[in-house]
Amino acid sequence: MKKVSSFKRRFICTTFLTLMSLLFSPPYLDALNAATVTYSGPVNWTVTTYDSFNPYSVHNAYNPVTITINGRSYTYYTVTSKVPTDNTVNTSQKTTLENHASSQTAEVQVIAEGTKWATELYIIRSTNPGPTVMIVGGIHGNEAAGYKAAEEIKNWKINRGTLLVLPRANKQAIAINKRYVKSEGDLNRSFPVRSSSYGSGTLARAIYKTVQDYKVDWLMDMHEGYDFYKNSSTDSVGQTLIYYPNTATKNISKKIVKTINANISSSYRQFTLLRYPVRGSLARASAEFLGVNSFIFETSQKQDLTLRIDYHKKAAEILLKELGMK
Ligand SMILES: [Zn+2]
Repeated sequence: MKKVSSFKRRFICTTFLTLMSLLFSPPYLDALNAATVTYSGPVNWTVTTYDSFNPYSVHNAYNPVTITINGRSYTYYTVTSKVPTDNTVNTSQKTTLENHASSQTAEVQVIAEGTKWATELYIIRSTNPGPTVMIVGGIHGNEAAGYKAAEEIKNWKINRGTLLVLPRANKQAIAINKRYVKSEGDLNRSFPVRSSSYGSGTLARAIYKTVQDYKVDWLMDMHEGYDFYKNSSTDSVGQTLIYYPNTATKNISKKIVKTINANISSSYRQFTLLRYPVRGSLARASAEFLGVNSFIFETSQKQDLTLRIDYHKKAAEILLKELGMK
């Protein structure tokens, strides 16, 4: 039997211990101890946090927070690419975690406040600079897919820029499930048709002023048609995207239509790209007089509501992704 030298023995022993310690030491980014926590508030959000025992995550982590999940308490550090200068633990730890981890803030502003047209505008701001996108639903009260999709979109998380969501633009019309309130006329023909105009009626003016005040870069207005555009026996614009032409809007509009159509086998039901939103519409006025990249997205009501809502959400998602916001 060959004698093992003391050097060799020490070497084997050290290697063994090193291997064991590597096996049992916390991984670099502690995926095993990561937890996804969901909160609901003005904005619903989900964040993945990493265990505080991980020395590597502590390196770029901040704000230890104790969260109770299913009766068990965990201490976590949130890990994001942005480390705020203030490392103190806030009294309201939940709020701190919410704001820091999501790197966004949310607020609600009531537009046409104090009038019967009062309606909520949700303002989601990322701490990272970027474009301002406005998504509008419920300009027409009987086009449910738009306002229902917008209600969900107001809870989305964004990576940069500002997302404005006006889910229920015309609450009075939504309440009666009509295109518009008879005495007031069609809201989507009440926006300016001349650069010097502010639009007609309290609501149109308030919405148009919002687009101006927030210096909106992109506007998506969600609508529905009663039939398919490809049904030539009707004048419906269901399943279309109608944009106000400029290069940027054209490119993103094309991308939206192409991506969504890839999952629609029937060409009759596919979306068609059209130009020039009608005069007096929010999209037309915003594009023509304020230089906003604007389009109207129209689903056909001859389909299930769930599917129609999905189309609106998908279109909004592609827009935000193309702008690096999602
Ligand atoms: Zn409409």
